[in-house]
Amino acid sequence: GPTVVIIGAGIVGCALADELTARGWTDVTVLDQGPLFETGGSSSHAPGLVFQTDPSRTMTRLARYTVEKYAELGCFAPVGSLEVATTPARLAELHRRFGFGQSWGVPSSVLDPAACAMLYPLLDKSLITGGLYVPSDGLVPAVRAAQVQAARATSRGARFLGNTAVTGITARSGRVTGVATADEEFPADMVVSCAGLWGPAIGAMAGVPVPLLPMAHQFVRTVPAGASDGLPILRHQDRDLYFRAYGDRFGIGSHRHEPMPVDLADLPGDAHPSKLPFTPEAFKQSWAAAVELIPGLRGAGLEEAFDGVSSFTADGFPLLGEAASLSGFWVAEAVWVTHSAGAAKAVAGWMVDGRAAIDLHECDLNRFDAAQLAPDYVRRRAIRTFTEVDGIPHPADPPPVRNVRVSPFHPRQVELGAVFGEAAGWERPLWYATNPPPEAPRPRDEWSARHWSPIAETEARLTRRRVALYDMTPLTRIEVTGPVAFLSGLVAGDVDRPVGTVVHTFLPDAAGGVRSDVTVARLGEERFQLGANGPLDVDWLRRNAPRGVAVRDVTGGTCGVGLWGPAARELVAPLTGVDVSAEAFRWFRVREGHIGTVPVTMLRLSRVGELGWEIYTEAQYGLRLWDTLWEAGREHGLIVAGRLAFDSLRLEKGRRAWGRDMTSEDDPYQAGLLPSGDTPPDRRLTCLVLADTGDMPLGREPVYAGGFPVGHVTSAAYGWSVGAPIAYAWIPSALAVPGTQVEIGYFDRLLLATVAEEPLFDPKHERLRR
Ligand code: FAD
Repeated sequence: GPTVVIIGAGIVGCALADELTARGWTDVTVLDQGPLFETGGSSSHAPGLVFQTDPSRTMTRLARYTVEKYAELGCFAPVGSLEVATTPARLAELHRRFGFGQSWGVPSSVLDPAACAMLYPLLDKSLITGGLYVPSDGLVPAVRAAQVQAARATSRGARFLGNTAVTGITARSGRVTGVATADEEFPADMVVSCAGLWGPAIGAMAGVPVPLLPMAHQFVRTVPAGASDGLPILRHQDRDLYFRAYGDRFGIGSHRHEPMPVDLADLPGDAHPSKLPFTPEAFKQSWAAAVELIPGLRGAGLEEAFDGVSSFTADGFPLLGEAASLSGFWVAEAVWVTHSAGAAKAVAGWMVDGRAAIDLHECDLNRFDAAQLAPDYVRRRAIRTFTEVDGIPHPADPPPVRNVRVSPFHPRQVELGAVFGEAAGWERPLWYATNPPPEAPRPRDEWSARHWSPIAETEARLTRRRVALYDMTPLTRIEVTGPVAFLSGLVAGDVDRPVGTVVHTFLPDAAGGVRSDVTVARLGEERFQLGANGPLDVDWLRRNAPRGVAVRDVTGGTCGVGLWGPAARELVAPLTGVDVSAEAFRWFRVREGHIGTVPVTMLRLSRVGELGWEIYTEAQYGLRLWDTLWEAGREHGLIVAGRLAFDSLRLEKGRRAWGRDMTSEDDPYQAGLLPSGDTPPDRRLTCLVLADTGDMPLGREPVYAGGFPVGHVTSAAYGWSVGAPIAYAWIPSALAVPGTQVEIGYFDRLLLATVAEEPLFDPKHERLRR
């Protein structure tokens, strides 16, 4: 194997050394600035509570593996966990978390107060409304887990050097060549930064932005106070508190204080750089809340108290992967003890096999737009991540930093009363308040009605009946120039088609999984425009591009609309010299021309299942394009429409969204992108039609058959043209037969659903072809 240097012997660096050496890469050197293995990093002070359940399947899996592995190594106390609720909203949230556990394979149960008190007799049960019990959760002694993994790695040939601070990263022609310390150089083919909260400093040595923010939170240990080792770990999220036992003492952590971002330069220079002096004032209300929940704590003194530093990111996910700008330089940071072994396994597999075995797109180091790397952005969003550690976040809650990326149409959208959501920094209209609501809107449950409006129904119906304008600017656009062989080798479909053709296909990874779905428009012999899913696609194309092929992300310099609906042709025809007749401009074709004075690229395709075009131009012409279409649209009843309508229409047409409905783990047959191959897949992305109760899943809910969890929902929306709620879900192929009845877990309810033939709307695509 190659020569690998790992920076950091915390729990992540040690786990990675273990995983790499287990795969036969034994030339591994792990360097730490501190002494081994109490290095002074976050792992040295972590109380090691592991709560596996997470809305993210990936994060839950990383945690599950961590539990399995550390249990095997004798570094896990399976005491179980109890999360208590003291409000109805929290109890509902616990039911939702129970659902995530069902979806991702972490069994749990929702208990009433009496059952909670049986598990945890010290609780004041009059305070609580219920609890979530996860028997397989527990405690990891982090330093011991680091040590045990390091010992295994050492036995296979790795070496660990303490008191060895890395001071520089060496590189040649865009490739890492090693690391430097004060006394020595360590040559390496690959360098992995597992420096935890010091990640940004190591990144700076390599010229690689590492967008995390070190922040402190409070942790105390009481004098003997009636605890005992078998007690489950406990969370009281309504007061931002967690508890564990140390023998008869309690360890109590609190996030209930003002966020405390830490400057690396201000860390103490002693043996415990990630341990800051305790701030007792800030702990007062936490202590009061702790005593309220566990009355036996009253009067107990504190044996130890500090503000401990660890890493937070803008979206709460870790930073994993190889830097886009420096080959061979990898990062595994902002990883909790909870996910340490899982993250290390995933990264080791990725390094050795060139492909991660599980979907890691949420965690990818390269997932950010340039603006999202701005220190101010990282800081403000990471602070929100901190304050929401114990929150009840709705998946559509807007982030604290807005208007980072706006399309040129933004001022017009504001005039039209757009209500915006955010994705990847983009402001995206969800609906427009100036559109009228339907006369008799369908009832909808409170949770799914957040960040939602009945106006979506108007927008969806008028798209099918008349014509609507959608902002497609946030879609990633990539310009590729060079011989077609490059794209032919990279995408699944045949893109060596005549100039003027558009192909909707996908990027397979080495194992045939769906890395992304893309539209490839051939604008010239050697000129292509791709519609893709984000910076990871740009990165993938660049990594694979040979000399002579240029890959340019043109997203920010361009903009575009989707103009869709039966009246789209009549609307656009008088505005352009391009012949838009059905015969001259067929489905899946692209033409360049003008609309009014605006130079445009028109792609005849539809993500919503109606006649129409995606129309792109340079950002400078954006407003003119919008105004031209808007004015001409008056006589055709043109309306503006947002993401809510879009999602409803796309699901009616069975159009998959990459990242939500499918990922690199799914093959194109399972995902329904290609008709079944030789071997029928064992599971399928399947269309479900729900009984219309007003409950509307949002995605990630468990699917049950015969009372057993068999899969999970990916996307869901009300389909107004089909008159029913629709959900797409991964379920076993044996069940993916039209007519099969299943149930979807939604809070404490079970929603009846039936497998349906898809697409539900216009299955022959007649409306698209006219
Ligand atoms: P670290 O353990 O910080 O290791 C990074 C290493 O890099 C350090 O040893 C450091 O010395 C070394 N290093 C840095 N710069 C250099 C350099 N230039 N040269 C050489 N070496 C360098 N997580 C949970 O899952 N559950 C919990 O209950 C929990 N509770 C926590 C409570 C507190 C008070 C704190 C502070 C954190 C808690 N965490 C918890 C978070 C968890 O501790 C960390 O996420 C985890 O330990 C990070 O591990 P790591 O290996 O990435 O980082």
